[in-house]
Amino acid sequence: MTDFKREGSHLASYPPVEKWDDWVEYDAEAWPRRVARHYQLIPTICFNCESACGLLAYVDKETGKITKFEGNPMHPASRGRVCAKGPATINQVHDPDRVLYPMKRVGERGSGKWARVSWPEVIETLGGRIRKAIQENRGEEVMYHVGRPGYDFIMERTLQAWGIDGHNSHTNVCSSSARFGYILWHYADRPSPDHANSRFILLLSAHLESGHYFNPHAQRIVDGKMAGAKLAVMDPRLSNTASMADYWMPTYPGTEAAVLLAMAKVLLDEQRYDAAFVKNWTNWEQLKIDGFDAKGKSFEEVIQALRKHYEQFTPAFAEKECGVRAEVIVKVAREIADAGSRFASHLWRGSASGNLGGWQSVRALMLLHVLTGSVGTKGGHNLAAWNKFVPKPFKVPPAQKRWNELLYPPEWPLCTHEMSFVLPHLLKEGRGRLDTYFTRVFNPVWTYPDGFSWVEMLRDENLVGIHAALTPTWNETAFYADYVLPMGMSPERHDLMSQETHSGRWIGFRQPVLRRFEELKGNKADHTYDNNPGEVWEEDEFWIDLSWTIDPDGSMGIRQWFESPQQPGKKLTVDEYYGWIFENSVPGLPEAAQEENLTPLQYMRKYGAFEVKGDVYKLNEKPVAEADLAESNISDNGVITKEGKALGVMIDGKAVAGYNTPSRKLEIFSSTMVDWKWPEFALPEYYRSHIHRSAQQVSVGRSSSDFDPEHMPKVEWPAEANGEVFTLLPIFRLPTLIHSRSGNAKFLYEIGHKNPLWVNPEDAVKLGNLRTGDLLKVHTEIGYFVLHAWVTEGLTPGVVACSHHLGRWRINQDDQIERLASALVDLREIGKGQWKMRQVSGIQPDQGDDPDSTRIWWNDAGVHQDITFPVHPDPISGMHCWHQMVRVERAGKDDRYGDIFVDTNLSFNVYQRWKALARGVTGLGVLRRPKWFPRVVRPADSAYIR
Ligand code: SF4
Repeated sequence: MTDFKREGSHLASYPPVEKWDDWVEYDAEAWPRRVARHYQLIPTICFNCESACGLLAYVDKETGKITKFEGNPMHPASRGRVCAKGPATINQVHDPDRVLYPMKRVGERGSGKWARVSWPEVIETLGGRIRKAIQENRGEEVMYHVGRPGYDFIMERTLQAWGIDGHNSHTNVCSSSARFGYILWHYADRPSPDHANSRFILLLSAHLESGHYFNPHAQRIVDGKMAGAKLAVMDPRLSNTASMADYWMPTYPGTEAAVLLAMAKVLLDEQRYDAAFVKNWTNWEQLKIDGFDAKGKSFEEVIQALRKHYEQFTPAFAEKECGVRAEVIVKVAREIADAGSRFASHLWRGSASGNLGGWQSVRALMLLHVLTGSVGTKGGHNLAAWNKFVPKPFKVPPAQKRWNELLYPPEWPLCTHEMSFVLPHLLKEGRGRLDTYFTRVFNPVWTYPDGFSWVEMLRDENLVGIHAALTPTWNETAFYADYVLPMGMSPERHDLMSQETHSGRWIGFRQPVLRRFEELKGNKADHTYDNNPGEVWEEDEFWIDLSWTIDPDGSMGIRQWFESPQQPGKKLTVDEYYGWIFENSVPGLPEAAQEENLTPLQYMRKYGAFEVKGDVYKLNEKPVAEADLAESNISDNGVITKEGKALGVMIDGKAVAGYNTPSRKLEIFSSTMVDWKWPEFALPEYYRSHIHRSAQQVSVGRSSSDFDPEHMPKVEWPAEANGEVFTLLPIFRLPTLIHSRSGNAKFLYEIGHKNPLWVNPEDAVKLGNLRTGDLLKVHTEIGYFVLHAWVTEGLTPGVVACSHHLGRWRINQDDQIERLASALVDLREIGKGQWKMRQVSGIQPDQGDDPDSTRIWWNDAGVHQDITFPVHPDPISGMHCWHQMVRVERAGKDDRYGDIFVDTNLSFNVYQRWKALARGVTGLGVLRRPKWFPRVVRPADSAYIR
């Protein structure tokens, strides 16, 4: 297991593993009496963000109840530590408002009337519909739409077993812009920074990476800092991280690429770059810029051409764009140069997710890594795929031969992930319908922009035949479902998880704690819902049962993928599925288990995680196997291929793996962007975002090399939109909140439950000497929301900011739906597509079954801002560009806190304006998408032909 001392930090104290079967603590509630309680400690994996930290569930051996969760010290990434959201799992488990049984609607869709049904009835209904759709060649009308996955690979396997192209995700409202920038450089769609060993860390993330790998990264950033690393944070907001940084760079949003290119210019001009690395590991020989063609030119000439290309990015220019002083930009650039190969960074949302062309900030950031030679190095930028370990199961179905244009529409051929947030508009345009729609831990009505377009889509039975919401909690989207199907929280389900949390590889095993508790007592269950609260189930068993129902006799070729590997013809069990993986696909695990006389499955059930051995640095330099080299071809630019498949690249006379790009090198010049008709962005560039300060007056581009000014989306304000124009930052959150699942975690809601509008004091003066607590009306392009002001210097002027993850609402007082977190609202459609919401009451104390609810001292449930935002699809990455211009004025006499108005007719118009920016090219005349680009649940090559 993890050598904590080697990693430079360890827990001072924790229950040793040998005592996990009978851990004794004194009962706090019995104090001052000393009453010993005996616990079985069972590991599982947290489900409250993507990090997959290890949790230890404390099960009282006398009552059989889980009493608390703490960190699992045997987990290689989290090392026993958790953030506030990990222990709050106990609230989720015991939430009196949770869904405990499968429910079917009995009134009109959205009327909020439900009746309890059985799991077999649910499976029969859904399985029958899916079978019919597949048999009638309508497989694409079956769609699985996931919010928080929390598993690796099993859904890809399931959907491909069904032979459909039906996977949809939330990624295009999350991180796809950043992913796009990374893909263009090296194919891997996310970074794995080695913070602990770095000398300089630059974060363009929201705050100590609270949204992404918060705890595992945060603790390693601290390790790095304690070893002397410096930290710089580029964020318009004084985030928690920025407050701990050596440099806070409050860049005006959308200008980050200008700053990063100015830093690159410093490195080039001062010759502080790693020439050998750039020469060996970039495709500089393919560069074509400003009339310069690298073909036949020397490396030095290419560097000169690059310097000329970036000469406009002086620190003074960057200062003018971003508002940060030029000398700070130069100082940070020099510190990065000093760190050299030990320069680490992270960019996931923030500048990438907020802005039109935000992915260029990633390309510019990666240019710094390339120039410093800090790619693949200790303390540098590593590739996620080098650290994340996804073992494969016993049988993998073939790729589907179909392409679903509701997922990957032709307008956006380069989109990183599915164009999920425009789905209501695609259906409105008559491009298809959904027969059977699964939402799974997914709440688009609340988390997506333009939520009322989702309401309109979901309530229309012609567009959505049946909607099953697989969810551990009630949510605003489940309200518009036909079936609400309760799925387990982290201690109520099986999943396999791995993430690129540090320079190492590991797998974590989420397991249903009470099922395991009973198993240890000799009571083996057939289904996870036998031991979970109520009839809360887990997806693994649900999909297996559903697949058997779709194809009961195996004639459709589906059932075979869900049969026991040991006993063909028998239904697969979760023990068999994971047991096979642990025995056959995880290097080192069988041996480690054998040392303790355990099977690999028993080992994982005992420890909950395993560190997989292997090199994690410089995997690009891994030699190509001699056997593979036989009969291979080497192209002029050194790419090694065999039978049409790229194997590696020649570097200094050696055949090595390289990167999965067309050149097998880091691509400073992207011929893909040229081929797909975006030649102006073949290199890392800066162009002004749709919320650039100049765009607050008129839409304008910077020069002919910018994004074509004619194609900058115009903002059209509703007639009643008054007030000062600001840029709204809506994509940060309080680090104690979970996406849409904080609502049943009372610990977390007590800590954070307000989302006022941050306003800089200078802007407060402009708004008529605004004071904290004053009521403001914020107009978007499609409506408005009303909330309180918070006047703070922790935000750059000209910008206002509001945390998402608050503003939950419910319509019916009778339903026990997230009462701890939601406001009761009056929601009306006052005209076609015109939605008005008013809060009737905030959070009330004394909600019944939980005595703690009598102690609720707050009333504020926050304000739901996202639903007032139109969709802004980036024409290239497909990412929703979250930042937007808004008009802010003081609320009028008829406005009340929490008021919301939206006109979905306007939102459809905004969608059309942004869609018009896309170029919709077909590659080589026939391709839907570059074949080398990653794609979720990748179809067969034949499906790429239009
Ligand atoms: S960082 Fe994420 S996975 Fe880890 S404890 Fe917090 S919420 Fe759970």
